[in-house]
Amino acid sequence: MKLIKSYEKVIVFGFVFSILLMTQAVIFAWSGHEVYTYFLAKSLNAPLDKLVEITPYSYKETRLYNTKYYYTDDFAGQRKFFDPLNISEFPEDKPPVDGKIPAFQILSIYAQFPDFGMDEGLNLSPMQALIGNSQGVRHMRYKLGIIEAFEGDKSFLYFVDMSKKAFEKRDEYWGYRFLSYALHYIEDLFQPYHESPGTFWEVLTSLFDKKVMKMLNNAHYTYDNYLVYLLVYSKNREEVVKIIEKTPARYVSKNYEKLINEVMMYSYSKFPQVHSELKKAFGDMLYERIPEIEDFKKLEEEGKLDKLYSVTKDIIVVMTGTIKGFLEEYLKSYQK
Ligand SMILES: [Zn+2]
Repeated sequence: MKLIKSYEKVIVFGFVFSILLMTQAVIFAWSGHEVYTYFLAKSLNAPLDKLVEITPYSYKETRLYNTKYYYTDDFAGQRKFFDPLNISEFPEDKPPVDGKIPAFQILSIYAQFPDFGMDEGLNLSPMQALIGNSQGVRHMRYKLGIIEAFEGDKSFLYFVDMSKKAFEKRDEYWGYRFLSYALHYIEDLFQPYHESPGTFWEVLTSLFDKKVMKMLNNAHYTYDNYLVYLLVYSKNREEVVKIIEKTPARYVSKNYEKLINEVMMYSYSKFPQVHSELKKAFGDMLYERIPEIEDFKKLEEEGKLDKLYSVTKDIIVVMTGTIKGFLEEYLKSYQK
């Protein structure tokens, strides 16, 4: 009995420790938020072309941020400053006219915002002392057997709540802007590597074998980059955009806690398939580096990404339908 208990302790400690190490390297999550959100918002069954007046920030928040990176100015038309992908003419981002911009533009350009450093360099929990990183804590929600950690779900709920507060005081600009931050976190949680870093045995092995840990980190980044690849560079790009445009809204629940739980469970259930196809496709490369666009292109040409593409399309359909359902239902209360 005692033996089992200490064995369990080792495993629990191992998990926690390796989770912490993993998050250290997680800086850019499921990138391409603004491109994805742009196509989604443009095809939404809601009047998002309407012009919204830019208003100053006037909120007391209960969350801590790295305030240096918690910008509150409007940056419509200035994507060059916030364009890690260097695709500055895409998506549509015009400067404001008479101090107004369309609602879809607010939703899309700010969806990348939570990755610009606002959640980085904070003290969120005692576990932080081990890693000195907090962005992963806010953007992920790990489930490893009985262990659950991090608060990506809370981040989503928090910004939905902030958005509600803004809409309720008729501040539409901040209503959409906070909503856009919330979209960032729900999109992050649809990335299965935000629910799990690897298989049980890989996580365990990674404690003693740095190569395995590097492979798992690279796998996470690779899948982050894969969505960007699909949206911007892939030969299947048009099909992906069409999927985002054509997928109908899917209503899950008006209870957003339930909604985000379903998202996490779905994503978690997709992890084994995504992880195994990704490893098959990229093989030993994952032990060395994160694949570049040219690597994606080559493997795609050779048909080696077909299965990964297939499971990713399933995820995009469920993600898109779920987010559209959430947005359409949510916005009904605030759009006249
Ligand atoms: Zn993120």
